[in-house]
Amino acid sequence: MLRLLERILSLFLRTLHLDSVKQRILILAVLATLIPTGTTGWLLYSQNKSALTGKLHEELRSASVSIAREFELWLKERVYELRVFSGSYELSENVEKALRGGGTRAQVLRRSQDYLKSVQNKFSDYEDLFVLDTTGAVIVASAKQTARVALPHDWQKQARLDQPILTGAHWDEGRGKTVMTVAVPLKTANGRFLGVLAATLNFGSMEAVLHQWSQGQTRHLYIVKPDGTRVLSSLLAPRSALTTKLPEQATRTFFAGEPGELAQLNYDNLDVLAVMQQIPRLGWGVVAEKNYEDAYRALVNIRNVTLISTSWLLMGVGLIAYLLSLTIIGPLTRLTEGAARVAGGDLSVEITADPPREIERLATMFNTMVAYLREAQQELTSVNLALNERNQTLEAISSTDALTGLHNRRHMRETLNAEVSRHQRHGRSFSIMMVDVDHFKKYNDSYGHPEGDVLLKKVGEILQSSLRTNDFAARYGGEEFLILLPDQDQKGAIEVAERIRQRIATETGDEANKRQAVTASLGVATFPESGRTADLLLVNADAALYRAKNNGRNRVMMASA
Ligand code: GH3
Ligand code: MG
Ligand code: MG
Repeated sequence: MLRLLERILSLFLRTLHLDSVKQRILILAVLATLIPTGTTGWLLYSQNKSALTGKLHEELRSASVSIAREFELWLKERVYELRVFSGSYELSENVEKALRGGGTRAQVLRRSQDYLKSVQNKFSDYEDLFVLDTTGAVIVASAKQTARVALPHDWQKQARLDQPILTGAHWDEGRGKTVMTVAVPLKTANGRFLGVLAATLNFGSMEAVLHQWSQGQTRHLYIVKPDGTRVLSSLLAPRSALTTKLPEQATRTFFAGEPGELAQLNYDNLDVLAVMQQIPRLGWGVVAEKNYEDAYRALVNIRNVTLISTSWLLMGVGLIAYLLSLTIIGPLTRLTEGAARVAGGDLSVEITADPPREIERLATMFNTMVAYLREAQQELTSVNLALNERNQTLEAISSTDALTGLHNRRHMRETLNAEVSRHQRHGRSFSIMMVDVDHFKKYNDSYGHPEGDVLLKKVGEILQSSLRTNDFAARYGGEEFLILLPDQDQKGAIEVAERIRQRIATETGDEANKRQAVTASLGVATFPESGRTADLLLVNADAALYRAKNNGRNRVMMASA
């Protein structure tokens, strides 16, 4: 089971080219660092993010709710004030008089106008105040110029029902301000409907509120109509607030969604978080929004710090893993090198056994194994030595040369001695010749010792096949042969020698293997002329051979008498 798991894992790691111990330890270290830091980092990040989002939501909601309430309150106060003004005797009495045509119309109306002027001067929210009769015509106004206001089509109905009449905000070119018109019914003391008292309101005090709430903050606060027009903005100039509309998508999100909900929007290439609160009386909304990037700047900092500290951790752990891997790879490398030396035949290897434990055990076992091998080799050498000795004695006892099948040197000496004593009995002469292959060392060097042996065998065959039955050929030394020719005088011996020289020079070549034939030099000596003892005869034959070599090789030389 474990073995199967190991195999599958190995296969997997191999496909990733993670073959060395060093790489695997490194991967382990990296994973062991990344997984916990990554998980805790992510947890921390998401916890922080939701906490921060909650806080942001709270902050934006409280801003928008407060402003909406203030706006509502402000409007309520203005309506209340207007009702108070409209109830003033100065106004209703004089207007009624003027409408009835009582007194001098201009004189009567001047008193109303004075009243309206005094009110306008006292209250900074009012741009002007004016009275409209039931047909909508201006009867009296505090200022010379009155904004041409389009009252809602059902204003008369609303006025008779005693409701305040509100218009939308618009840009007043003459005053250079955003304004709105509010009107309340104007009645006589006994309740007769005369028309309406209207006022043009500026938003000065509301602008102050917006600025107060956004001051020092990265918040953008604005009041928006359901068509996307901004009435007031803490950021934009009043004129451009009215003329640049909020994108349709954003407007829809605000007015269709739950009020007070946190919305994430993108407009003007900016990501923002926003909350809208409605002003019920007008159907407008107060939006508090914050740039996404500003809102989450703290979070980005946390993320960066986490990333940097994780990188440092990774580097540290990576270094430790690398150093650890060295303590494993070092002993392993020494083991491998030791094994390579043993494979190369060096049995003197001894490896120091260092931890880790597994490798230490392996090293100890390796050393034991090499010690066994050493012992076995020593035993083998001594056995070989004994065997060689025995071979030599065997060689000495036997009479033939193992390689060529000719007689050996010892046997030759015996035969030569016997031939000398035979001469003493019968007076018959005989010849010997010494044959030595030319430049045989070079041949060995070029083609190798085994090929040299093959050549020696071939020379042996040539010699054997060139002789009579009674003649006697022996391998005298490495590439030296000695031939004994009984009953052969000097002349006959030279003929035989010449024939042998020629045959060696032509027949030892090997065309198939592209080898040239070797040559041989020969020294001939005849008994008794060239020496009266076996030893002397051998010395002289050797001297003749020496001369043949000196004179250029591949030739036959006769020993001097
Ligand atoms: P030179 O013409 O002067 O005789 O040169 P050479 O190289 O033949 O003579 P040298 O005595 O310098 O070298 C003889 C070589 O014969 C040296 C040795 O390696 C080789 N030899 C001796 N015995 C054997 C053998 O049994 N088998 C093989 N293959 N080579 C042998
Ligand atoms: Mg030699
Ligand atoms: Mg030689």
